[in-house]
Amino acid sequence: MMEPDRANTEAAAGSAHGRRRNLSHLMNRDSACDGVADSAGDKTKPARVRIKSAIAPGGAVEVAQQGMIVRRDPTQTLHIAIASGKGGSGKTTIALHLAWAYARSGERVVLCDCDADAPNLHCFLPGVVVHASEVTELHPRIDAEHCVACGACVRSCAFDALYMRGGKAHVAEELCHGCGVCALVCPSDAAISEHEVVVGTTTRQRIAWPNGVCSDMVVARARIGNNRTPRVIADAIAAAPVAASIQIRDCAPGCACAAVAGMRGADCAVLVAEATPFGLHDLKLAVEMTRTLGIPLAVVVNRSGAYGAVEQWCTDQSIAVLACIPDDRQVAEVYASGRLAGERLPDYNKWYQTIRDGIDTLMHKETACSK
Ligand code: SF4
Ligand code: SF4
Repeated sequence: MMEPDRANTEAAAGSAHGRRRNLSHLMNRDSACDGVADSAGDKTKPARVRIKSAIAPGGAVEVAQQGMIVRRDPTQTLHIAIASGKGGSGKTTIALHLAWAYARSGERVVLCDCDADAPNLHCFLPGVVVHASEVTELHPRIDAEHCVACGACVRSCAFDALYMRGGKAHVAEELCHGCGVCALVCPSDAAISEHEVVVGTTTRQRIAWPNGVCSDMVVARARIGNNRTPRVIADAIAAAPVAASIQIRDCAPGCACAAVAGMRGADCAVLVAEATPFGLHDLKLAVEMTRTLGIPLAVVVNRSGAYGAVEQWCTDQSIAVLACIPDDRQVAEVYASGRLAGERLPDYNKWYQTIRDGIDTLMHKETACSK
């Protein structure tokens, strides 16, 4: 996990130096879902504002008036992070089905694929890309003619991305986090200039569920070979439509920077654990990470069976277990065909009502505790 100081430096750096570049050539305006694509075409406003104004009328408040939302302030988006200490635990399956459960009941849902190194949520549902942008950072370029070899930049770089060789400073591009500190401390006006580096892309698309209901999806995709995945994930989360009543993030597995970036700012986390000794080992790490971030958490045990130690450990730790979804070969077969298990096996959907109820209870408890 990223140390807090470094994470803060990076967050501050990102806000100062991150850039988004419109990739209008990737947009498909033939959306069958709704008018979001049309409103996104209003070039007089920044993209974020255009998206918001397209979705705001008749959003969550309207649904709440129909009595479907009773548990929280309908003007606030509930951000749910689906995370796991271990890859292959079923996190994506659970994120998808939970999103579908909310969408079926009239919630305005946005799915965020925060697994930027291997995003695959979009493979499960037909969708239309309505906006795409590059995520870029400003990296330093050293002009050897003007470098006086004082070493100030090397000493100031928190990421060891600069070094001296041959009496001049050099940049190790792959380590640079684009924070801009080196340019600030350099005593020479002309020794350091900055150039834009593409670190990934963010796409926003409209997706259609099997019953025809539409939702939004944002996908973070890191450029292969770069280490700036957290910046790309943060950009995708920021690009999510703000009028959604529910935001579900499919986080990167593990407990490193990418997982932390997906969880940051979430209202609650659902940690998916496989019912195996490996699953339990990695769940402990994920719980530690989530508690360090101060995010309320609960657990879903996936592919549960004879190994009961995961549930027992959660009980010992006073962690709520929202559901124990049994191992089912049929679910794995549907998943392997790239479809939603709940579409072919309607009984499977019952677990997601249970998980929703558990999230409501968790959030009620947190609200009561914070009063
Ligand atoms: S090289 Fe400069 S911009 Fe890159 S991380 Fe180091 S101080 Fe920041
Ligand atoms: S701070 Fe500027 S002048 Fe000093 S070593 Fe770095 S690039 Fe050269």
